[in-house]
Amino acid sequence: MPNYPPSFYEVTATPAPRRPALAGSRRADVCIVGGGFTGLSAALHLAEAGAEVVLLEAGRIASGASGRNGGQLHSGQRQDVLWLEQRFGFERARAMWDMAQSAKALVRDLVERFAIDCDLRTGVIDALHKPAYVDEAAELVEALHTRYGYDQIDLLGRDEIVEALGSAHYLGGTRDRGGGHLNPLALARGLAEAAEAAGAAIHENSAAIELRRDGKPVVLTADGEIRADHVIVATNGRSGPFESDTSRRVLGLNNFVVALKPLGSLGEHILPGGECASDSYFVVCYWRKTADGHLIFGGGESSTRHVPADIASFVRPHLARVYPALRHAEVAHAWGGVVSITGPRLPFVRAIRPDVWAAGGFSGQGVGLAPYTGKLLAEAALGRTEGLQPFLDLPIPPIPRSDWFRQALVTLAIWQGRLKDRL
Ligand SMILES: Cc1cc2nc3c(=O)[nH]c(=O)nc-3n(C[C@H](O)[C@H](O)[C@H](O)COP(=O)(O)OP(=O)(O)OC[C@H]3O[C@@H](n4cnc5c(N)ncnc54)[C@H](O)[C@@H]3O)c2cc1C
Repeated sequence: MPNYPPSFYEVTATPAPRRPALAGSRRADVCIVGGGFTGLSAALHLAEAGAEVVLLEAGRIASGASGRNGGQLHSGQRQDVLWLEQRFGFERARAMWDMAQSAKALVRDLVERFAIDCDLRTGVIDALHKPAYVDEAAELVEALHTRYGYDQIDLLGRDEIVEALGSAHYLGGTRDRGGGHLNPLALARGLAEAAEAAGAAIHENSAAIELRRDGKPVVLTADGEIRADHVIVATNGRSGPFESDTSRRVLGLNNFVVALKPLGSLGEHILPGGECASDSYFVVCYWRKTADGHLIFGGGESSTRHVPADIASFVRPHLARVYPALRHAEVAHAWGGVVSITGPRLPFVRAIRPDVWAAGGFSGQGVGLAPYTGKLLAEAALGRTEGLQPFLDLPIPPIPRSDWFRQALVTLAIWQGRLKDRL
């Protein structure tokens, strides 16, 4: 992974306790590899079910996407129900919509059950910059109201979107009162504490380097090994050769974020309803205000391994497009992360061996879907796979492994997207 600065969430949080690296050999019912939302939720639910669980994290807890994202809790999958209906038919689209509804409910339930102080708030605005997108949104909202019984989303006309965002840039949009936003690092840390309280063991700085078999799976780290009945690989496709079924299907996009210094009165007209927002550009912009008045704004992607020397300057043109008055606003902190996407922008979730499950590639929709998938992976490791069913045979094609090819593919996609945005 490129060497990103820590996130704003991390530099403003109380330092988390360090967990010891794995040393020596031990047994577990389930070994989980990866300490983001997916792995932590799996660990929590398995420990609650009475299983002996060990989680291995290569860096610190939530040092990947889970601790550095935009914190937006969206409804549905990354592909909307109309897209899903067209590809897979209504029944499957419905099942995937229902999963995503359960995913939001799970996040709310976990936050409440474990009193996780992550500033969870209600409302997601989708801002649209092309007339065709406004027409498509009308069709989507109609479908959600009539075929899915979902009445928490409404269309916003031009005047309404201007007022809702405090930006004159967009033509229309939607307001989803069923979605929300939160501090993702605080959620992940809360899940880690809850998992430990339920009995899970968590080891940081314990990269899994090899998956061997000795009858059952054995996960090796530099200084230890876990002999387990089951393994859950929750590395979001970012563990390279350790587990290639997922990483072959996932592309990593560098995505950049800034947190502005509190804006005072200048910020009052921005998202006055307290929602978060994202827009319809291919290189999507997303933003929200924190409880203490910082505007967190994500915008700008790249395909190279290099982190721009000045991330703030990379994001600023996107911010200025939405809020010209903030063109010179002071940035408190800038950071980035890798968004793992698959070709069809749907997650890859599979049993890659009868006793090894893997998941990743939530394609920018993992704040809700990753913790929920973690819970379903926990059930699957305990022998109940029904919950995961709608994900299991999604066609997620492998992408050639060559670094050069992958980088070219992402660069091409970004340029195509930029062109489409302008037409
Ligand atoms: C900048 C940014 C903004 C985003 N904004 C949003 C948003 O607003 N809303 C939304 O829904 N989604 C968003 N996402 C996506 C979301 O963050 C992810 O979908 C989600 O966090 C995935 O969780 P995960 O647990 O599957 O993966 P991760 O959080 O990536 O966790 C995987 C973990 O595995 C560890 N690991 C890797 N290899 C090994 C190994 N060999 N051994 C041990 N550990 C290993 C990594 O260190 C990492 O901690 C965003 C992502 C980024 C980067």
